[in-house]
Amino acid sequence: MTGLDPGRLAPPEGFRRTARRLERAGFEAWGVGGSLRDTFVLQLLGDTVANPPEWDLATDARPDEVMELFRRTVPVGVSHGTVRVLDGDEHVEVTTFRRDVETDGRHARVVFASSIEEDLGRRDFTVNAIAWRPASGHVRDPYGGLADIESGILRAVGDPGARFREDYLRVLRGFRFAGRFGWAVEPGTDEALREAVDGLAVLSAERVREELMKVLGDPNPSAGLDLYATRGALAHWYPELLGLAADRGAWLAALGAVDAVPARELKVRLARLVVSAADTPEGRAEVAEALLSRLRFSNADRRHVTRLSRLFLPFVGPTDSAAEHRRWLASAGEAWEDVFALHFAGARAEEAERAEQAERYLEATRERVRREWLDEPPLSLADLAVRGDDLIELGMSPGPLVRLLLEELLEQVLEDPGRNDRARLLGEAGRLIEMGVLTEASRPGGGSGGPPAGDEPPGSDA
Ligand code: ATP
Ligand code: MG
Repeated sequence: MTGLDPGRLAPPEGFRRTARRLERAGFEAWGVGGSLRDTFVLQLLGDTVANPPEWDLATDARPDEVMELFRRTVPVGVSHGTVRVLDGDEHVEVTTFRRDVETDGRHARVVFASSIEEDLGRRDFTVNAIAWRPASGHVRDPYGGLADIESGILRAVGDPGARFREDYLRVLRGFRFAGRFGWAVEPGTDEALREAVDGLAVLSAERVREELMKVLGDPNPSAGLDLYATRGALAHWYPELLGLAADRGAWLAALGAVDAVPARELKVRLARLVVSAADTPEGRAEVAEALLSRLRFSNADRRHVTRLSRLFLPFVGPTDSAAEHRRWLASAGEAWEDVFALHFAGARAEEAERAEQAERYLEATRERVRREWLDEPPLSLADLAVRGDDLIELGMSPGPLVRLLLEELLEQVLEDPGRNDRARLLGEAGRLIEMGVLTEASRPGGGSGGPPAGDEPPGSDA
């Protein structure tokens, strides 16, 4: 065993100052949780963990004592013991030692405790139950978290079944940590995870969503997401993914494509998962709607992911005409680059030779589409050089046929942007009215050229 290298324990100055001040006032100040875990992981694996550790501080000082001691504080969660101490541009979350006295699977009633040992005892996994006191250099690791990190094992603190029943979020956190670091789940912990998944139903949508977004923010979300599937955790919050997950090959391919989306594009990653779960644009949109509503995503996020899921296919190719590219842009609007990102991720997830070919194909397509987009051609009814009122002045009665005629004109303008000239469009409209082609029979599907490709104007999510 290597052991933790003390030279690596390098919290930011704000944390150090806060700890020193607490110690001078007679309190204990410990670095705990993710910071110790991530520091040791970094030591063992090098810089494969994307984010530098976040340093949380645990102390025996009570929240009111912390607020008295520091000039600038924010009571972010005083009832469960957390005060944010502001230090220049930095801030430190300072939490009083705690002990759970009552839990119901989603909330805990905590009381303040007097020792770091008690505090570590309520933490979820051994790897998260390590503490270090800068003032003395002492490391507390009562559950063997450092050894587990070194062996690559995720293990619950204490009786795993009991720990998950206290707070079912730990189940999802476990998937995330094991997936993020590629750890094996210790057999007893694993069995308890499988037994606890039904309890996920008691969690709030917000906590489940935040967990999902943290997994999606990892360099390779596939490992964590696969644990959701193999441990039976999809049923309550992600039923739309069950069919996909049942086909092992398709599921792993879908996860590979999620990994291939850049990590900062969380919503595109989510859409990439969704598009594999249904076969039609409507089906994909329904999956997105259902999943994101259940997880209470914001309306904007739900609309965006639904829109990307719907737009995924049919797609354009490099040999399509410029007019076809414009028609596609007319339906995709601002989302067009994200739709390309979905396809690029699918291509990158293919095997080497096919990946290269597929990427070249997509690059060629994107180049042409981008050129059209940068030309800023008219793409929607709002961009037309004529309005509905103009057509009514030409003698049309107000009603749905006005919109239909505008759509016919837009179709012509998408074909050739040079036709977006007021006099010319009015002439064309007059001709069409005279020909009488705009009868009920010319509604979508019924004749004269049809509506523009894509059945929604840019910016709409309907
Ligand atoms: P990350 O910040 O990368 O998500 P983390 O381990 O720092 O990982 P936080 O949510 O910041 O996670 O929590 C800090 C610490 O608090 C954890 O390391 C763990 O010791 C403890 N903790 C957090 N949530 C729970 C929980 N639901 N049950 C028990 N302990 C928890
Ligand atoms: Mg943290």
